[in-house]
Amino acid sequence: MIKKDGHTHTQFSHHGSTEQLDMYIERAIDLGFTEYVVTEHAPLPQQFLEEFVGPDDARDNSAMAIDELTFYKSEVERVKEKFKDKINIKSGFEVDYLKVYETDIHSFLQRESNWIDEIVLSVHFLPNNEGNVAPIDYEPDTLSAYFSDECRNPQILFKRYYDAVIQSVNFDTGLKVPVRIGHITLIRKYQKLLHLPKFDESIKQQITELLAIIKQKNYQLDFNAAGFSKPYNGESYPTFDIAEQAKKIGIELVYGSDAHEVNALGLYYDEMKELIVDKK
Ligand SMILES: [Zn+2]
Ligand SMILES: [Zn+2]
Repeated sequence: MIKKDGHTHTQFSHHGSTEQLDMYIERAIDLGFTEYVVTEHAPLPQQFLEEFVGPDDARDNSAMAIDELTFYKSEVERVKEKFKDKINIKSGFEVDYLKVYETDIHSFLQRESNWIDEIVLSVHFLPNNEGNVAPIDYEPDTLSAYFSDECRNPQILFKRYYDAVIQSVNFDTGLKVPVRIGHITLIRKYQKLLHLPKFDESIKQQITELLAIIKQKNYQLDFNAAGFSKPYNGESYPTFDIAEQAKKIGIELVYGSDAHEVNALGLYYDEMKELIVDKK
């Protein structure tokens, strides 16, 4: 039986731990994982960094820098070879979807297409009412500061988020490898702190539409454990009801620890495995 972690990070996440990739892999083997996709944040488009990022800005350290790309790839290649008898390691990226930079993202993926086995496609940044693009999952204060109007009417914030996630699914990656849509309830990361309400009927409808497009594109869903460990969230991304809805229409759910440190590997796998479609 395949036991897969489809969403993992490395020391190239500047907001994560500096533990070496070998330690992650050894831990995954100990936990009985047979397949492991390394999905570090791909470098953000250069123009995005230049146009929006200031010195103390979250956006300049969330992803690997472009000059780290070669080293990252060689590290993944190295552990692939080193552990090949014990675990099937795949090369990947977590790719930020940014509507304005679709062309740059497309070019990046084309350049790397021979190297990529799988990707996670994620929305972490949204435009606010003034057109400034800000991260939704960096700090609660950042979310409240950039999206103060939207936070007063959270259904508007939710709609903004699902509009972007739907756009990300419709984006032409140009790749022929598995694409997973990342953590599709990330907008609820600080739900307990910000007292976010439940999704209203129109958002639920948007989620139904989103799942239909994911199915139509034959994409997978990142069934992400990270929210369980976040003090202000406490749930999987997406929540079990949405995961069940996805499974019902035949979308493949792939467990993702989204580990940024070795200790986060495998968390909540047992709780989530019922919903993971096992094709093998
Ligand atoms: Zn992510
Ligand atoms: Zn991630």
